[in-house]
Amino acid sequence: AAMAALIGELRLEKATAAAAAPAVLRSRHYDVVVVGAGFAGSVMAERLARGSGKRVLVVDRRPHVAGNAYDRLDEAGILIHQYGPHIFHTNSPEIFSYLSRFTEWRPYEHRVLAEVRGQLLPIPINRTTLNKLYGADLADDAAAEAFLKAKAEPVETIRTSKDVVVSAVGRELYELFFEGYTRKQWGLDPSELDKAVTARVPTRTNADDRYFTDRFQFMPAEGYTRMFERMLDHPNIDLLLGVDWTELDGSTTWDHVVFTGPIDEYFGHRFGKLPYRSLAFQHETLDREWLQPVAVVNYPSESTPHTRVTEYKHLTGQSAPRTSVTYEYPAEEGDPYYPIPRPENQALYKRYAALADQQEDTTFVGRLATYRYYNMDQVVGQALATYRRMAERMGTPAEA
Ligand code: FAD
Ligand code: UDP
Repeated sequence: AAMAALIGELRLEKATAAAAAPAVLRSRHYDVVVVGAGFAGSVMAERLARGSGKRVLVVDRRPHVAGNAYDRLDEAGILIHQYGPHIFHTNSPEIFSYLSRFTEWRPYEHRVLAEVRGQLLPIPINRTTLNKLYGADLADDAAAEAFLKAKAEPVETIRTSKDVVVSAVGRELYELFFEGYTRKQWGLDPSELDKAVTARVPTRTNADDRYFTDRFQFMPAEGYTRMFERMLDHPNIDLLLGVDWTELDGSTTWDHVVFTGPIDEYFGHRFGKLPYRSLAFQHETLDREWLQPVAVVNYPSESTPHTRVTEYKHLTGQSAPRTSVTYEYPAEEGDPYYPIPRPENQALYKRYAALADQQEDTTFVGRLATYRYYNMDQVVGQALATYRRMAERMGTPAEA
């Protein structure tokens, strides 16, 4: 027992030392300062250091790496996602194999149920959804297609997030599954949002109840944070956590900046604030083995304040006597989680992007810096492409 206690103590000590270590700056001058240790910043830092031999300083104002993909063990020993559920999926072999350098994977196909009229029904809407909701007996794709065709209300030009859904499934299913959820999530009616938002969720006539149909669907076997730690573990990369990059003083100098924070903040909001939607996360451990049949249950009704509930053991495959869950409450104020896709916001972003283009010594990449509603794989793809362009400009080899 004494030995076990000693080993436990040593482990703890090691963990504390590791957490404190990144504050050491090994250089006074860096080739590149990367602002943000999320997917955008970490991929850029890894490529610049390992691919082009650059000396890189990564600065993040949060006390951890991985940005919004950050995960950690909670008190119950369950791997939870601090900033809401992150499910990895991609169709790109290049992106998948790049990330595979830093992690093993656990096969996982995401399934989501929506609570509608007292039932838990598959979302995306599929044949099972229709059969259960209407007590119907649609036997095949053709029957479901005919059923939806009778409900759909064609819209001449599909422009908004309302048009997309109403034209595919009609007003009733739109109201039951999309209207309330979207109003809660964005604080806007679907008619005020770009069509791209609800177009993320398809409509199906088969019984496929997976949330995504991408070729590669996996979770990092030891979690996202571990994957980021491996990515950033390089003699050319220094890491400064819990520090806003504007706090770097004159004792540190650099040639180039890669900025992955909000672009309007970078420019001091000089054209006004770009709207970002926020969320409040309520993390809980419940004294029961399971809460729900799948990892995520959506609550589209406006009579429920939260949008969805995530139960992590479904994602991790862990077994434990208790279960950890997260409720998501949309919020106007708070950390910037979502750019809000609508024409006036895009127009404002374009004004900032024009300033960014003139900034020769700064590169903008990622979901906040390019104001795009990107998934993780898209951010990785964007960062890899940005790195290649940068390496070409710098005249350094862009090694694989
Ligand atoms: P971030 O992860 O936001 O990283 C930016 C970093 O910059 C932050 O850590 C921030 O602290 C830091 N920073 C900003 N300003 C400064 C400053 N001035 N000084 C220092 N540091 C600064 N994608 C999927 O593929 N699948 C999913 O299931 C999924 N689920 C999601 C669920 C939620 C609730 C959210 C919000 C997003 C989800 N995403 C998902 C999207 C995914 O989170 C993003 O695509 C990805 O994390 C973006 O990476 P990034 O590096 O661009 O930005
Ligand atoms: N959506 C909805 N009902 C649902 C699921 C999604 O209305 O049950 C809409 C909502 O506007 C949401 C958008 O579709 O913001 C995109 O959903 P997704 O699950 O991709 O959102 P994310 O995981 O990015 O928060």
